Amino acid sequence: MTRTCGFDPASVEFARGHFIGGQVVEDATDHLSVARPSDLIPYADLPIGTADTVDRAVTAARQALSSSGWATQSPRERVRAMRRWADLVESHQEELGRLEALGSTRPISQVIASDVAGVAEAIRFFSEWADKLGGDVAATRSNDLGMIVSEPYGVVGAITPWNFPLSMASWKAAPALAAGNAIVLKPSELTPFSTVRLAQLAVQAGIPPGIFNVVQGTGAVTGDAITRHPGIAKISFTGSTRTGTAIMTAAAESGIKPVILELGGKSPQVVFADADLERAADCIAGSLLANAGQACVAGSRLIVERSAEAALVGLLQRKLSNIVPGHTWNASTDYAPIVSEIQARRIDRILQQSRDQGAEFVMGGQRIEGYGGAWYQPTLLTNVTAATAAVREEIFGPVLTIQAFDTEEEAYALADHPEYGLAAGVYTRDLGRAMRAMRAIQAGTVWINRYTRTMDFILPTGGYKRSGIGKDLGRQAVEQNLRHKTVLIDIGADQAAR
Ligand code: NDP
Repeated sequence: MTRTCGFDPASVEFARGHFIGGQVVEDATDHLSVARPSDLIPYADLPIGTADTVDRAVTAARQALSSSGWATQSPRERVRAMRRWADLVESHQEELGRLEALGSTRPISQVIASDVAGVAEAIRFFSEWADKLGGDVAATRSNDLGMIVSEPYGVVGAITPWNFPLSMASWKAAPALAAGNAIVLKPSELTPFSTVRLAQLAVQAGIPPGIFNVVQGTGAVTGDAITRHPGIAKISFTGSTRTGTAIMTAAAESGIKPVILELGGKSPQVVFADADLERAADCIAGSLLANAGQACVAGSRLIVERSAEAALVGLLQRKLSNIVPGHTWNASTDYAPIVSEIQARRIDRILQQSRDQGAEFVMGGQRIEGYGGAWYQPTLLTNVTAATAAVREEIFGPVLTIQAFDTEEEAYALADHPEYGLAAGVYTRDLGRAMRAMRAIQAGTVWINRYTRTMDFILPTGGYKRSGIGKDLGRQAVEQNLRHKTVLIDIGADQAAR
């Protein structure tokens, strides 16, 4: 196992521009100041890419596709280049890890053990699909040959969020590249720099310059320009349902391009009294503490059988007290800051509103002071209903609401959220009940007696309802980067009989 060391944030060096055609480009456009989430101290200026910058990136991507043979060479060449890229990610794990920890909410120990390791593995996983999805031969009458031929889109666009910047960039870029596309990707303006390093390593690995471009900037300007660019054939986005709606509208207005949306969640954790409560508490606390709840799949609504409620809440209180907040560059830190003051105020607002609606705080509810940035105490709320703000709204903070049930039917009714359906956890030793719950709950992922992803990237992730359209990860993520051409050939069987 790698031993992680803390580091001096002032020692981290990185490129501050866009990455277009294999070069770091420093535009003379508007800039905005970027702050470290750990202490909110500004540490770099970020160029805000305009529609012209996006156009340059699309032109570079098109030129790279036509001159490099990325889409037309043997797919095994793509596999080889992507494997070298994964190896380079691993050999640069300290550098990438420091950059990610400096600029995001991810503590350095977790970035090294989980995020960077996962990025390398995701790239390898996706590389292996490059020569596996060529299409199908269809059953037709014998004097015809019907084929469904898979082809890349060309240039695809992606917009990623701030909660896991490197992981999200790899989940978007690697399937797009494996399928033979070029990509123009905009990271969140809050966490922009590590993605450029990832793209630089792709070029170093032999992926042609211009195949992976990064355009920096804000969602409203740069993100919108990517979505609307006529040369971008498809968009993949991860973020809020509100922004997903804006992206879908812009994509429709600017040329009916497909959109893949991985959006918000309000995921239930349903615990039956027969479950291993100690294990359930570990999973539920782990989900709440991971990135301090700033994860789309955070299991933020506990729905527990009444006879187990007191015991489970007692266990959770103990496990949730065991946190080490601190700057993300300290090796001992295991509890993430909230990404920005705006996000922290959003948590303040939802908690205040919930308090006004009658919610009671079993623990937490306050910020943790003393580090410069915004940390939030792990918070348990009871006496809530479906109408309470903390039950209804995605919080993106370490807040768990508690609702008790008496019957299985009631459990599933409480688990059902009117808007979201991203993920769910079910805890029981009864296999039949676990399967009934799996069928009853409307969610893109159901975890049973566990609550995390593994590095089995063959398992896709994505939402039901307003939690999204399409999937990240899995074979599906590559298929979504391919379009399908139907071919029907008259093979002249009649002529053979003549
Ligand atoms: P957003 O959904 O607004 O941001 C996610 C990404 O979309 C960022 O790169 C952002 O750019 C970009 N973006 C914003 N507006 C547009 C637009 N009109 N067109 C194209 N791209 C756009 O999330 P926020 O950062 O504002 O967070 C708000 C809430 O969203 C959180 O509290 C949380 O509930 C949810 N969220 C969900 C995530 C998930 O994984 N499902 C991830 C992040 C947030 P920029 O940051 O540069 O403005």
